[in-house]
Amino acid sequence: MDKKNLLDLDRAGLVEFFAGHGEKSFRATQVMKWIYGQGVTDFDAMTNISKTLRAGLYDIATIDLPKVVSDSLSEDGSRKWLLQMADDNCIEAVFIPEADRGTLCVSSQVGCMLNCSFCSTAQQGFNRNLTSAEIISQLLVAAMALGQTADGERRISNVVMMGMGEPLLNYDNVVRAMGVMLDDYGFGLSKRRITLSTAGVVPALRQLRQDCDVSLAVSLHAPDDLLRNQLVPLNKKYPISVLLEACKEYVGEGRRRVTFEYVMLAGINDSDGHARQLARVLEGVPAKVNLIPFNPFPETRYQRSSGNRIHRFFEILNSAGIVTITRRTRGDDIDAACGQLAGEFMDRTRRRERSQQKHRTVAQ
Ligand code: SAH
Repeated sequence: MDKKNLLDLDRAGLVEFFAGHGEKSFRATQVMKWIYGQGVTDFDAMTNISKTLRAGLYDIATIDLPKVVSDSLSEDGSRKWLLQMADDNCIEAVFIPEADRGTLCVSSQVGCMLNCSFCSTAQQGFNRNLTSAEIISQLLVAAMALGQTADGERRISNVVMMGMGEPLLNYDNVVRAMGVMLDDYGFGLSKRRITLSTAGVVPALRQLRQDCDVSLAVSLHAPDDLLRNQLVPLNKKYPISVLLEACKEYVGEGRRRVTFEYVMLAGINDSDGHARQLARVLEGVPAKVNLIPFNPFPETRYQRSSGNRIHRFFEILNSAGIVTITRRTRGDDIDAACGQLAGEFMDRTRRRERSQQKHRTVAQ
């Protein structure tokens, strides 16, 4: 019989699992407290569970964490883990400490299918979706490595689904893992403190609002469809007007806002005109804008906009009344900045190979 990795189950799943083995439902919360509260992954150390049940658990269940292949610390305090899963694929998770919070950037897929032209993960191609165990494991591994603050607080106060992959194309597993992040017996985070970032998979966005309405970030990167089609090809399927409607629906009438991410690419999307157009496009949308200085990677054709340009862009949005912040680049000395996460895996789409072939043909 296949043993069940308990990290793949949310609370309801654990209750069902234990019921299936003739156990009471409180076993679910007991086990969750050990795993997510204490970082205990060995059944024998779960001392409030009877010896017989503990012994029985070894036959039917596992708590399988990925292997930490490397653990790099940046000069600025951010930290990146390269994690190897059972099939040898590797993904990355990054911790970013700030004065008032500690944010873990979590991956949702091995690679990515979307092929955004400025993203290093896209260059690597795609292999597969992560299981919900592999998603929640990133928090567990990081939490165990980071320990607690002097006053016993967890160091991870926020999670951003902004690592490798498009979370809304791995919907069920991402939602289940976020359920464990939110659960009081899991990581006990509030919805405000989990942010899902998407390139704009509109139907899944509508569904997410009903299932798990965490904070939303949308990778916009361009104020018009022509340009966005080039940067984020998914735009051909869900153009800006459709995407913004879905964003408005997502936040509803309340006070919440959508964060729009905008990568600053020199000479591409960073002119005064682009800024003014962006302000117009976002009129009537409860929005915040997050300007991200482009993080270069080998073989990219783009460059980062200058500091002055970014500042000017910022000023235009600000004076149009849009709350705007410029994201500080963190962890670039360990290749942990936005868009630099690459992991190590087999590209099933052979995207890299195909693009190199194309370049060769053009060069001839
Ligand atoms: N697929 C999701 C989440 C992953 S990317 C999404 O598209 O939102 C997380 C953020 O990093 C996105 O806003 C993405 O556009 C941005 N990003 C990707 N490559 C980047 C790069 N080279 N420099 C700066 N930001 C980048």
